[in-house]
Amino acid sequence: MSVKTILTEPNKILRQKSKPVKKVGKKEQNLMDDMLDTMYAADGIGLAAIQIGIPIRIIVMDISWNKGKKNPMYFVNPIIQKKDQEKSIYEEGCLSVPNQFAEVERPKKCEVEYLNYEGEKKLLKAEGLLATCIQHEMDHLEGILFIDYLSKLKKSMIIKKLLKNRPDRIVV
Ligand code: ZN
Repeated sequence: MSVKTILTEPNKILRQKSKPVKKVGKKEQNLMDDMLDTMYAADGIGLAAIQIGIPIRIIVMDISWNKGKKNPMYFVNPIIQKKDQEKSIYEEGCLSVPNQFAEVERPKKCEVEYLNYEGEKKLLKAEGLLATCIQHEMDHLEGILFIDYLSKLKKSMIIKKLLKNRPDRIVV
């Protein structure tokens, strides 16, 4: 298990569409372990494989670990089966958009079909923070970031800040 580097916006890789996983094997499980380590190390509650540069449809999440007990969730090839008409608003952040936050409106409840760590088919009925988090992560699989929901002005301000805060690159 190891901690990987998380890509940050602007980065073309983050805008790629991720490909479905053919089979959940040892390689995919090792990747999920690395993703979880990376997410915990970065203080996040969700991470998609594309955020560490791997364009396949895998997500890890743990929305309650900062309250003490770890409860990791793994989603391979997730598909939203149902979405609520009712919306909820959360202030969202993203490990690929460091230190930037904004309110985003999303369906309050959703049902997601996916394969788990063992490759078994599962259905998750999510609402509240869990529903928002899985929808945020599934957007990553399509190359979408939460800042894409903001006004053009707000989005460009955030990208400007990200570029400004990026450490200088040294080539030796
Ligand atoms: Zn994110």
